[in-house]
Amino acid sequence: SLWNDCTQTQLASVAELVNIKAEGHISKRIYDRISQWADHILPCDHIMPLDYYNTKKLIRDLGLPVENIDACRNGYMLYLKDRIDLDYCKFCGEAWYNPAREQNSNRKKTPYVILGYLPLTPRLQSEACNVKLGLCMDGFAPHGQYCRTYSYWPIILISYNLLPEMCMSSEYIFLMIAIPDPSNPKRLIDVYIESLIEELQNLWHVGVLTHDNTKNETFTMCVALMWTVNDLHAYGMVSRWSKASVMGCPVYMEDAHAFYLQNGRNAYYFDCHR
Ligand SMILES: [Zn+2]
Repeated sequence: SLWNDCTQTQLASVAELVNIKAEGHISKRIYDRISQWADHILPCDHIMPLDYYNTKKLIRDLGLPVENIDACRNGYMLYLKDRIDLDYCKFCGEAWYNPAREQNSNRKKTPYVILGYLPLTPRLQSEACNVKLGLCMDGFAPHGQYCRTYSYWPIILISYNLLPEMCMSSEYIFLMIAIPDPSNPKRLIDVYIESLIEELQNLWHVGVLTHDNTKNETFTMCVALMWTVNDLHAYGMVSRWSKASVMGCPVYMEDAHAFYLQNGRNAYYFDCHR
């Protein structure tokens, strides 16, 4: 924890401050001043880094490289792979950067939306066996801490290799993606998880060479995504399931016998409670 009796972890606090820095285009100098101010007001046993240099060092030491990915400001696509050099979104035609800001100076282009992606593979390479994961996508967080206090919507992986009481504790969950703009995060959530899906597919089909320190041998670790944890709304977004239709229930399908009223456009589920 950040200090004795603090409910926040050092990592969560640092990650949030780094996100704020990226989102607000805050300079290193100002970041250092904020850090010094935090040092001043926090209990004296706190372990918050004292400047940006030590923050970067901490994140590096934890093996948490953050990939910042530019995103369409309307959430239609990420600037990845063959789209990485595009200036305008293929779907809505908007630029990824703010042209007004660019005209004012010769500074770098200023992106509207940055998605923070934390690659999974380096974090799993301390595991000594294949890994089973669950993906939580509807803002679910074990301590309810992310969605309330954070300006980012989290996508979280849980490892089922751990004991049940451990796999839900905040030290053992993997924060994968911080989606900016939590006002409507589920709208196009499948766009934002592109990097994650690709990494999971690679870890399932190919795996990654890992060293098992206890046996002193190298093996190919594979990763299975067991299931996803989400409400029906997030499920619909991720799988593009039309949850508002008469086939809205992905389990019962047509057996739910939902119907449309003659003059209504909503699907009606009559006597379907369980
Ligand atoms: Zn777009």
